[in-house]
Amino acid sequence: MSSLRNIPSIDELLLQDEIRSLDEDFNHEFITNMLRRAVGIVREELRNSEAVLEKEAINHQIMAVFNREIHKSARGTLQTVINATGVVLHTNLGRAVLSNRAIEYMVEMAGHYNNLEMDLLTGERGSRYMHVEQLLKEITGAEAALVVNNNAAAVMLGLNTLAAGKEVIVSRGQLVEIGGAFRIPEVMKLSNAILNEVGTTNKTYSSDYEQAINENTGLLFAAHTSNYKIEGFTSEVTLQELVELGQKYSLPVMQDLGSGILYPMAQWGLKEEPTVQECVKSGADVITFSGDKLLGGPQAGIIIGKKPLIETMKKNQLTRALRVDKLTIAALEGTLLEYLSGNPAIKIPVLRMLCQPPQELLDQSRQLYQKFHDQLDNHAKVETIEILEVEDMVGGGAYPTYRIPGWGVAIKFQGITLDQIAGQLRLKQPALLTRRQDDKMLISVRTLQAGEDEQIIRLIQSVLQN
Ligand SMILES: *Cc1c(COP(=O)(O)O)cnc(C)c1O
Repeated sequence: MSSLRNIPSIDELLLQDEIRSLDEDFNHEFITNMLRRAVGIVREELRNSEAVLEKEAINHQIMAVFNREIHKSARGTLQTVINATGVVLHTNLGRAVLSNRAIEYMVEMAGHYNNLEMDLLTGERGSRYMHVEQLLKEITGAEAALVVNNNAAAVMLGLNTLAAGKEVIVSRGQLVEIGGAFRIPEVMKLSNAILNEVGTTNKTYSSDYEQAINENTGLLFAAHTSNYKIEGFTSEVTLQELVELGQKYSLPVMQDLGSGILYPMAQWGLKEEPTVQECVKSGADVITFSGDKLLGGPQAGIIIGKKPLIETMKKNQLTRALRVDKLTIAALEGTLLEYLSGNPAIKIPVLRMLCQPPQELLDQSRQLYQKFHDQLDNHAKVETIEILEVEDMVGGGAYPTYRIPGWGVAIKFQGITLDQIAGQLRLKQPALLTRRQDDKMLISVRTLQAGEDEQIIRLIQSVLQN
């Protein structure tokens, strides 16, 4: 008990040189709060201990806890992660890594005033929605475009504008849930549209839609089944057929593409899914997709389609609540400009990673293997290191069943479990996220960024040292 009497007061602690020198970096209130927290933690420890400590020893303990706590608190919670999983659009790791042009454009707009909502020709108030629209029209061939916060917002805005209080006909095979938080039936409810499901889970025909059309029908809706695939005895109506039906009954057709492909990637094995341009050609009235999936830009929801419908959406009050900020607009314009450059597969990291030839990945794996071999191989806890052929994934709800052949390096450890090592690597800075293959830790090289090889070695070494 008597140790507690030796705890210095907050005022005493504040007078120490070590604390006073922090004035430049932290405000007084924050420092005081952290000292109180440290004193609280040490007091608890002393209470549970038999030892009787002198003031100086206690002071020492408090300062150790204080330094730990202040550095933990004075840091943003967002931190960089090395993605060695081979999942290119990893939804939990921030999806798309932006292109240099997007980053530069965004940084420039962040540090300066800009014409976000000013028409510089007239000096009058302009619209933030004009910025990306021209580029999107140019690239997709659509009549008009609008960008909102994310694709979930785009779908909701589309449904609310075109079908509030009306029925929306959807195939049962397309009532998707994306990432646990986006469910078509729920979004439908929130947008005040009435869901009218037709067909069955595996088969829906044009006649199913046709029979469901009545005087209260407002919209024909198709959703891309982004994260699953129904195989076997299946049938879905094509967008073309839906458009024909829409024209026959004067009903708009909206397609939620999820991950919009702007650049044909069939040559890299990524086929089966239509590009945005093809959907526009099919005659869909409204098409929505994400900015940060296969497009490779920032989080955004892109709506393209027939001009009168897009104009009505712009006037919807919901749009104000779903609008994008200047940083998103800048990053998206920077990304879209890469599509005009003629070589997006080199300049946009998402496309570059997806299109990288296996031979290059193998070479990269050999280099990484060599570094591991030189710097880790003689470690007692490292049993084997080898180059492995791996199966990577697109991620982000695109091509759910498609595996992209790639290469990586696998390490087998001894005297430490894979869960232990993976857990410790996640807590490093930068964090390292690896994959597990049988009893080995796998580093897939496809998703590594420049300069990360050396960091990976340093991180593994530091974990093995403990
Ligand atoms: C990903 C996805 C969404 C949600 O898009 P966010 O940009 O994540 O809001 C909606 N619909 C489909 C089909 C998707 O794949």
